[in-house]
Amino acid sequence: MERMPRSGLEKLQKEQYYKEDCYMKSKKETEAHRELLLIICPVIEILKGRPCVYTMGSPINNRALFPCQEPPVALSTWQASVRTAADFVVLMSGENAAEPVQLQEGILSWYYYVTMPMPASTFTIAVGCWQEVKQQDFTAVIQTNTMFSLPSSQADFRWHEEICGHVEYPCRFQDPAARLQAVIPYRVFTPCCLTECCEEHLLQLIPQCLSAAYTTLGTHPFSRLDVLIVPSNFSSLGMASPHIIFLSQSVLSGGIQLCGTRLCHEIAHAWFGLAIGARDWTEEWLSEGFATFLEDIFWARAQQLSHDEVKGQQELKALLRWRRLRDEVQNSEEELQVLRPKKESTGETSESGASIVKHGLKAEKVFMQVHYLKGYFLLRSLARTIGEASYLSSLRKFVHKFHGQLVLSQVLCLGLLFAFWKKTPKKQIT
Ligand SMILES: [Zn+2]
Repeated sequence: MERMPRSGLEKLQKEQYYKEDCYMKSKKETEAHRELLLIICPVIEILKGRPCVYTMGSPINNRALFPCQEPPVALSTWQASVRTAADFVVLMSGENAAEPVQLQEGILSWYYYVTMPMPASTFTIAVGCWQEVKQQDFTAVIQTNTMFSLPSSQADFRWHEEICGHVEYPCRFQDPAARLQAVIPYRVFTPCCLTECCEEHLLQLIPQCLSAAYTTLGTHPFSRLDVLIVPSNFSSLGMASPHIIFLSQSVLSGGIQLCGTRLCHEIAHAWFGLAIGARDWTEEWLSEGFATFLEDIFWARAQQLSHDEVKGQQELKALLRWRRLRDEVQNSEEELQVLRPKKESTGETSESGASIVKHGLKAEKVFMQVHYLKGYFLLRSLARTIGEASYLSSLRKFVHKFHGQLVLSQVLCLGLLFAFWKKTPKKQIT
């Protein structure tokens, strides 16, 4: 990776404001800095005497790669060459599954790239002595099983013919072969001490969950997936980035249920959070609410539960989440509970292009789930009003219209209602 010249580094450091809120640089300034690229300040961990390094999620929403925060609208593509000693594996959020090239004895070079412009906050890297977990190929079986169960209606297919609304890049939604791919190619990497556990609990779940996501939302927005079991200092259960998901070691110890639900949650972020991003940092409910809501639907489909079992499981989860939400609301600062803290000015930037992250570094906010849960209940209530089938059909249309773009919650709610409105006779809408 290219290093930023010293003067550039000092300029960047001067512009950081890591106090109550995080001030973002203007888009213009950010573009100038992007040419200088990059400083890595990720987490370094010594795992059984072997060092590893990875970009952990930070409280202000990025992957802790840049020592600054960019507004989400500063989209870019990237390419990176990373050199390592021969016993290290480099995983990144690139669209290619890089194969290492030997530069000289004991030194490998890994090259990754993306062609889809994305916020810099989604850039992810993990370097360590990971081992790939391999087992027999489940993909073929799952693909044949799900090809004919895709719930797309004729109307959904007509939607596929529409032109994308994003800036130009090679898009999977316009690629007939990609649109039929129920399970994208995937790999699992782990420290060698957890290989067996991954084989037992995780590996066979991935195609099931990917396929369930596909039958729910259609085309996978990204062409491949690496799942990495990250070191034990990772502070969440999972984190999704383009083409790569980090999972906590704690997920493995929770057996198939915890692995499956967490995997489904992170897979849902490929659509909500990554392919469709929030245009304002404060609207985290957009990605977390959707991922929490969709994890139940994906997981029920992955397990092939009966209608009654699905209902029972969903009701039980709703009850548990309601209790958690009630506890959080009673025991946290009121201003941290607001889904749209910037209200009408959400998405606005100052004249210079700068915007503010509210409560970015408040320690307690990292552990709060209120945005996940309130978002979930909002979406659940919409689904119950509209009916799940119509609701999911509207979601697929919304994904088609807005993938590759950043949205505000007004756009999303209006988009969903509009899709529903077009489909439903007016006398049925109250
Ligand atoms: Zn597209």
